[in-house]
Amino acid sequence: MARDYNAMTDDAFRTDVRTFFESEYPEQLRYILRRARWDEMQGWWGQLYKKGWVAPGWPVEWGGMGLNASKMIIFIEEMERHGVARPPDQGITHIGPILMHFGTEEQKKFYLPRALSGEHIWCQGYSEPNSGSDLASLRTSAVPDGDDFVINGQKIWTSLAQDATHCYVLTRTNPDVKKQEGISLFLVDFKTPGISLRPIVNLAGHAEFCQVFYDNVRVPKANLVGALNKGWTVAKALLGFERLAIGSPRRPAYALQRLKMVAQARGLFADQGFLDRYTALKLDIEDLASLYGRFIEQVKRGEQVGPDVSMLKIWSQEAWQRLSELLIETGAEEAVLNGVQNYGSEDTPVEVDVMTTFYMSRPGTIAGGSSEVQRNIMSRYVLGLPV
Ligand SMILES: Cc1cc2nc3c(=O)[nH]c(=O)nc-3n(C[C@H](O)[C@H](O)[C@H](O)COP(=O)(O)OP(=O)(O)OC[C@H]3O[C@@H](n4cnc5c(N)ncnc54)[C@H](O)[C@@H]3O)c2cc1C
Repeated sequence: MARDYNAMTDDAFRTDVRTFFESEYPEQLRYILRRARWDEMQGWWGQLYKKGWVAPGWPVEWGGMGLNASKMIIFIEEMERHGVARPPDQGITHIGPILMHFGTEEQKKFYLPRALSGEHIWCQGYSEPNSGSDLASLRTSAVPDGDDFVINGQKIWTSLAQDATHCYVLTRTNPDVKKQEGISLFLVDFKTPGISLRPIVNLAGHAEFCQVFYDNVRVPKANLVGALNKGWTVAKALLGFERLAIGSPRRPAYALQRLKMVAQARGLFADQGFLDRYTALKLDIEDLASLYGRFIEQVKRGEQVGPDVSMLKIWSQEAWQRLSELLIETGAEEAVLNGVQNYGSEDTPVEVDVMTTFYMSRPGTIAGGSSEVQRNIMSRYVLGLPV
């Protein structure tokens, strides 16, 4: 029988998580700042799977840990504390919850266990060269043909597509209606003939995403998620889960921890001006953790995430950027050098990669929908302001 983690005391749960990470997580993968690749993370995923810890937020019936908000925050804090990297986890954080809500029984039974075991690695085929913020204008087409749909078009910014076995792809299935009403979401096996990838290198020099080309790609009709032409509703729900995952305090908490290390090494906590700025940012991260906890509880109650999750996305990514900017200032001239620098002494080294932390925080206000667009969503759908 699955263990009821929520019945444990917070302290006992924290000790269990900490002990497991400290004893099992590979030392060479601690505190890597770029997106971790599947070949590096596969072994760790296997360990998590054996332990039943791949999906902390999934319900127990689907093999998740079923954590409530406070336990989830502890899990994240301990990952951060030990420098545990995020694996290619879109099967768990994005498409998994969507299939639980919108998938057929066959889709749930086939895809959820394989996402959990790591047999299927998922990526997201939403954005196109001319459809990012205005995603509903997408042009990649899916045309019915016998038992299949045939997909043609081009996606871009598909994160870690080069590691994925599957992609959930938004397509246009009716070009003759209002743009939001002719969209459908398909589950696509990357082994299908007609798919080709071209990696794109990010600001920090890592091949983080790809262009993905679909040339007469045949996808069975059974791979449609939700109703035909109703993919916009599914896509928006998925973006809600994505914004929740992006809004996790994980990365800002990491930057705060590094800021503290560098500031201590530089003796800056004796400076009242610095202390004020540090404290304000620390409180921002505490606010973030409590806001995140509120959304986690909502998901656990089986509710979908609403447009107000945009607030979480804005807050987490902008706080992360503010932190990484103060980190650069704190690191002073060494901070602009690429790679790990020593901010301590030879005897007591304090090794931090300030520049990569800064680089990695930059696209946070673009990925998953830009801050400007999130503010538009908040003003329109949460505050009800006129457009
Ligand atoms: C790190 C990273 C990972 C990503 N991963 C994926 C992925 O895995 N899969 C995927 O499908 N996509 C992915 N994306 C793409 C991402 O969703 C888009 O970049 C994003 O939605 C913005 O679209 P765009 O780049 O086309 O910019 P544009 O839409 O062209 O926007 C350009 C600028 O105009 C502003 N703007 C646009 N419209 C408005 C408006 N109505 N009001 C005010 N300002 C506006 C934007 O805020 C932005 O500043 C990723 C992006 C990044 C940075």
